[in-house]
Amino acid sequence: MMADSQLRNLPSVDKVMRDHRLDEILRSTPRAIVVDWVRRSIDLLRNKILAGDDRNEDLVCNEILQEVLSLSAADVGTRMRSVINATGIILHTNLGRAPLAQAAIERMVEAARYCNVEMNLETGQRNRRATRVCELLSRLTGAEASLVVNNCAAATLLVLQAVASGREVIVSRGQLVEIGGGYRLPEVFASSGAKLREVGTTNRTYIHDYEREIGEKTAAIIRVHRSNFSQQGFVHEPELHELVTLGNSRGIPVIDDIGSGCLHDLSTLGLREPVVFESVRAGAALVLFSGDKLFGGPQSGLIVGQRTWINVLEKNPMMRALRADKLILAALEATVECHLSGGAFAELPVLVSVARKPAEIQAQCENVCARLQPDQRLSITVVPCVSEVGGGAIPDARLESFAIRIVGQSVDRLALHLRRGTPSVLTKIQGGAILLDLRTVAVDQIDALVSCLNSRKCLHVW
Ligand SMILES: *Cc1c(COP(=O)(O)O)cnc(C)c1O
Repeated sequence: MMADSQLRNLPSVDKVMRDHRLDEILRSTPRAIVVDWVRRSIDLLRNKILAGDDRNEDLVCNEILQEVLSLSAADVGTRMRSVINATGIILHTNLGRAPLAQAAIERMVEAARYCNVEMNLETGQRNRRATRVCELLSRLTGAEASLVVNNCAAATLLVLQAVASGREVIVSRGQLVEIGGGYRLPEVFASSGAKLREVGTTNRTYIHDYEREIGEKTAAIIRVHRSNFSQQGFVHEPELHELVTLGNSRGIPVIDDIGSGCLHDLSTLGLREPVVFESVRAGAALVLFSGDKLFGGPQSGLIVGQRTWINVLEKNPMMRALRADKLILAALEATVECHLSGGAFAELPVLVSVARKPAEIQAQCENVCARLQPDQRLSITVVPCVSEVGGGAIPDARLESFAIRIVGQSVDRLALHLRRGTPSVLTKIQGGAILLDLRTVAVDQIDALVSCLNSRKCLHVW
């Protein structure tokens, strides 16, 4: 009886929708979605009542609204928007890896409407997609030809399928890597139809291991860069040029998956990473890398190498399924131009962040601190810290940096406030404190960061 009367008192969807407390949500969320949330919240409460959970009639509406608000908060948390990355992780996979250069952003916006993605405006004739960006890429890397696909995983898949489907590819045991997000090389091999032929051991593989394994069915040798871990101690692996010499003597192409498209020798910054044009020069038939790691562009898989092999890839039917979108091609074109014009370290945010000097970051931290108006209960200091390259590039890199360190009662709550802010600010939590590593915060984001930190909720009521 009790449950019956309570069920009868459940409000209708319409009644809840008319509540003014939903007005704000309705300004930013399609009505149909809010209606779904309301329906789900009413159902939830109905099930609780049926399970014998008593409700005071006056509280029913409040409880439904609370549930809708929490569904809305979860939804807002996944809505894509710009964030300030104060984690010090330069290539943060969860934050979209490389932020684009201003020129790349502008080119992308321009291409968003009608654009000449497959037309030469001089002739008015059809032009193959990405012709220009591929020409520029070849020029940049010293390769004969280039190709752009969706990402480096797609590049690996395409290359294995086009070069080695139904045949074998030789790879060192120490290079059978998992990149992250479940991307495992052996599984990519399996789905490409190429058969994996492992040689050597986890820590040591010699050129004669490869040599012994070459046979009738061998289609290629692949070398995979260990992007996200390193091996030290009793280890050996042949140099790329040794593999190329072996491959050439047996008529077998060498594929070099270098992961991060690093174009510059970063050893002066203490970073060691394969450089694209060195692989090209060493004679790899095809060199594969991501466009959104150290290359500093949009998500893409870049393939550079010998013309005959690029031709084989271009003719593969999978190419159509893996091709890049016009927005990506536009951003990539501008990114390649940055590299070609010599402005990479000034214009590409990834390289700007990589190259920043600790003393300059320290000064910026002091500057920001001087502008904060925190609650008395907080302790705010500037401390040394270590930034990471992240995103599957240079796992050993230790980039000395500085951070603003905030300690107070509830670090998790402050971190949540910062994530919910406008703009959203991502921090790292370490040793019970919040660290804002400013290496990854652009100069033009500093004002926004300060006003976010000074907003009522952030450094005061928590
Ligand atoms: C990152 C990486 C990949 C995957 O690249 P995506 O562009 O993320 O698909 C493949 N191989 C290596 C060696 C990598 O470092």
